[in-house]
Amino acid sequence: MYYTDKYNTNILGKSVKDILTPNIVIMEDVFNNNMRIFNNIISSKIFHKPHCKMHKSSHVAKKQLENPSSIGICCQTLSEAEAFSGNGVRNIFITNQITDLNKINILSDLRKYSQVSVCVDNMNNIKDINTILSNNGSYIDLMIEINCGGGRCGVNSYEEFLNQYRLIKELDHVNFKGIQAYNGSSQHIYEQEERSRVSETTYGIIREYLSCLDKEDYEDLEISGGGTGTLEFDVESGLYTETQAGSYLFMDMDYARVEGDSEKGVGGFDNSLFVITSVISKPSPEIAVCDAGLKSHSVDSGYPVVHGDRELTVTGVSDNHCVVKDQNNSLDVNDRLLLIPGHCDPTCNLYDKYLVINNQVVSDVWDIDARGRNI
Ligand code: PLP
Ligand code: MN
Repeated sequence: MYYTDKYNTNILGKSVKDILTPNIVIMEDVFNNNMRIFNNIISSKIFHKPHCKMHKSSHVAKKQLENPSSIGICCQTLSEAEAFSGNGVRNIFITNQITDLNKINILSDLRKYSQVSVCVDNMNNIKDINTILSNNGSYIDLMIEINCGGGRCGVNSYEEFLNQYRLIKELDHVNFKGIQAYNGSSQHIYEQEERSRVSETTYGIIREYLSCLDKEDYEDLEISGGGTGTLEFDVESGLYTETQAGSYLFMDMDYARVEGDSEKGVGGFDNSLFVITSVISKPSPEIAVCDAGLKSHSVDSGYPVVHGDRELTVTGVSDNHCVVKDQNNSLDVNDRLLLIPGHCDPTCNLYDKYLVINNQVVSDVWDIDARGRNI
């Protein structure tokens, strides 16, 4: 074993000051508080399948599933679903299209071990899934995805929707379970009023599709979608049977900018996830260079922000460095900073383990066991 890995295996009980950087940490009290706030918001009004593409950790998923309203999880990819299934999470909704025949064969194998459902938006894909599941003497639940404003996957007309709905009902090895209605484009709208307005449009689109269904299918119908940004509207809409929110647990800099009812922003959630980084160079009084670059946090939603210090600004990021403007010359080599990543999901995907911090000490280590599983 390499010395750095050996050091990390003995990290439990060590001070945050002794963590090798860059690294990813979770503040346990904030994490638990986000979990509590979230469970209060949904209470028993709506079910929850947490989107685990965010944290990629079966350990975190199991904590979410302790809430009785959390009835399963969402995954985005087949290999991600395999990892969660293999690590004991047995009710998995893949909120994506699995179209490749070899992948459908693997999906069919996975179905032997876990309750797996998947999205569809294509007639041939539905037929392929039915044929392959039939060869294995099995069946699978399907959710027809509709484009409800996000402009990603999903059917775009009632005709397409009805054709697929009727086909699924005709076939013996696929079961119509409900509708996938996720509008990703509304989640990160910063202004509350505008986000609410766009959500109402989304709900209008969903209602139109619902009116196409036969009465008999209303009973156990699942209407799934929603994320952290629209959570409170989705819960109150009375439309969704379940939310797929994921980021609420860790939050990130982009979500911190999304307005909510309280001053704290959307939902009242706080940042529990940080990248810990060290100053490795002080090339001039006003510049500090830290060891967390693109390979340690994602910048697709903007540069990270230094936690708790408004005087320090990240002004540049390269592979293994970030440049911090230190206008008061307050930093020295080996000082440590906590960075709030711009976007949590792709940041978590860069690490093997979360270091959980309680009272400035590493109190636990959680595997990120689905990390990198994008097939
Ligand atoms: N559902 C789907 C299909 C998603 O793609 C995402 C995230 O992109 C989510 C739910 C979770 O949203 P959030 O992490 O914003 O809560
Ligand atoms: Mn995200």
